[in-house]
Amino acid sequence: MAETRRTLIAGNWKMNGLRADAEGLVRAFAERLAAGGKARCEVLVCPPATLLFTLAEALAGAGIGLGAQDCHSGASGAHTGDLSAPMLADAGCAYVIVGHSERRADHGEGDELVRAKAEATAAAGLLPIICIGETLDQRDAGRAVEVVERQLDGSLQEGAASDTVVIAYEPVWAIGTGRTPTIADIAEVHASIRARLGDRGAGDARILYGGSVKPDNAKEILALDDVDGALVGGASLNADDFWAICSASP
Ligand code: PEP
Repeated sequence: MAETRRTLIAGNWKMNGLRADAEGLVRAFAERLAAGGKARCEVLVCPPATLLFTLAEALAGAGIGLGAQDCHSGASGAHTGDLSAPMLADAGCAYVIVGHSERRADHGEGDELVRAKAEATAAAGLLPIICIGETLDQRDAGRAVEVVERQLDGSLQEGAASDTVVIAYEPVWAIGTGRTPTIADIAEVHASIRARLGDRGAGDARILYGGSVKPDNAKEILALDDVDGALVGGASLNADDFWAICSASP
């Protein structure tokens, strides 16, 4: 495996967490990290923006990276309520999730905008985690690979290299549902993403799987050749579960 493909386990807290819960959760997770020895994988937490400054120091002290859940495609300007990638870098972030299916659905974000956000993230010196994935109808129609390849083509930033982007394959129907694709289906989609990234000169970029990753399925998923980590929603809000998933990394 290429040096750039160190397993990454990223927790996406979504719109969850007040200061009191968050500090407790990070403390509990840091204790498990300290007790269990250094995690083999890279660990990242993406809290809501209100918690970035609060958590930056505690996470850095525990050897955990900090990421954001979204950014604007511009660097500054008249965009009330938005946050730019340079602001997120200033808050201590190393990564920004872009194109999560909840933003694509709730805010009508399409591939073109996601690509602009990925470009803004990379321009600020941060790593975009670009999310792509099919709906249940698309999977049932046998179109999962085609849909994911099209989203990848449209969302990947121009000039992306293996060390300047992370892709997260997240079947929409698996997010927060407790359902996951079969291991063979995950392997098939990841292999197609790997080949497509190769065509774009980023063949060793990390590809995460996301969608109902739990302690009991993490080992099998993370053992797949083209799976370089996981994007974890619900289970990242529980220190024991998140630690178990991190510990399952090969
Ligand atoms: C996610 O939000 O990216 C996600 C994968 O959520 P969950 O793990 O809860 O399915």
